[in-house]
Amino acid sequence: MEGVPSRLVAGDGPLRGPLPDESLDALVVVLDEVRFGRSRSRSELVARTGLGRAIVAQRVGELLERGLVIEGDVGPSTGGRPPRQLSFRSSAGHLLVADLGATSIDVAMTTLDGRILAHRDEPASIEAGPEACLDRVEELFDQLVATTQGVPGRLWGIGIGVPGPVEFATGRPISPPIMPGWDGYPIRERLAARHGAPVWVDNDVNLLALGEWRSGVAAGHDDVVVVKIGTGIGAGIISSGRIHRGAQGSAGDVGHIQVTEDPAIICRCGNIGCLEALAGGGALGRAGEDAALEGRSARLRTALDQRGTVTAEDVARAASAGDPVAVAMLQGAGRRVGAMLASVVNFFNPSLIVLGGGVSNSPDVLLASIRETVYRRSLPLATRELLIQRSSLGGLAGVIGAASTVVDELFSREAIGMWLASGDPTELAPAG
Ligand SMILES: [Zn+2]
Repeated sequence: MEGVPSRLVAGDGPLRGPLPDESLDALVVVLDEVRFGRSRSRSELVARTGLGRAIVAQRVGELLERGLVIEGDVGPSTGGRPPRQLSFRSSAGHLLVADLGATSIDVAMTTLDGRILAHRDEPASIEAGPEACLDRVEELFDQLVATTQGVPGRLWGIGIGVPGPVEFATGRPISPPIMPGWDGYPIRERLAARHGAPVWVDNDVNLLALGEWRSGVAAGHDDVVVVKIGTGIGAGIISSGRIHRGAQGSAGDVGHIQVTEDPAIICRCGNIGCLEALAGGGALGRAGEDAALEGRSARLRTALDQRGTVTAEDVARAASAGDPVAVAMLQGAGRRVGAMLASVVNFFNPSLIVLGGGVSNSPDVLLASIRETVYRRSLPLATRELLIQRSSLGGLAGVIGAASTVVDELFSREAIGMWLASGDPTELAPAG
């Protein structure tokens, strides 16, 4: 037992050594069933997984011994001895997660099932660079640890999202257009060395998609596109019940699809005519400022005079108040985004599109314009059952998605085989 954290040992039996491969395969299947609440008893596990009764009993026994699953109250009897309910022991450890946007930092401490124990958010600029931003993330993590009552277990992992393309295998941003100084920055190595836990880094939009899929409006859908319309525009893709990151991790970068040949539309990525250069939050703010300066909108003029700039939020507020110029801007942006999504719908055939990010909180005119364009321009078979809805988790989707990523990776077949024997997932942290 030496070296094994006693908190991981729930039963009285001795911890076993490494499992053979087939046993590990079955263990991961059983754990996933229990963890996602799909199976709550041994008989449900047998019925749902196709594994034999003896195998299920052995794997459940392993998971109970290792403290990853607990047996709780007696469930409803279907005749005979009533079954004990199995559940994932989400308090076996805790996670620290951060969602860095272009203009904000959200951090949270969560249980292993993504339940938020403490949360902080504050304005921040990603353009301040990795040293300043990650210094602040580390300070906020320390504050969460210091101020949260009854932190469960030890730190099992860290998840962090950034607003740019990330090579998922290495956790490094690759040529991110709005993140000066971050190209190739070793985020994983830095945070792992400081906190002594494994770290996963992903694009903020993938985390938004995972959050909505696990705990939000996309739960129960297997094919989903989650579009974030913030300063920029991006999409996260759930395909056949899995996040689809693509070969390198850049899948869903729909903001840089070319939608016009107009050489005046220059995108921050360096290309011309990108969607986000026309319809993203940054573009809406600039168009709002032009309208204010040209005297076309009194409301936007007031915003400009008060703060010296016009943001997408100002445009949204003006549209809510009935400003016709602002309404037309959101309709135009909605048509652009809708046309892109119609192509995505024809290509990918999702059952649900979720709209998230700051701009998507704007009045119904944007959503209506996106919907109208998608339904008009997509093939009838693809739109017959297609739903288009707003994000349901608001600003928390990113941190919830980051927690999901960490736990999915910790309990992936590959990772769990590396740490299960010792019971210590922090073994996955890169040596440093
Ligand atoms: Zn671009």
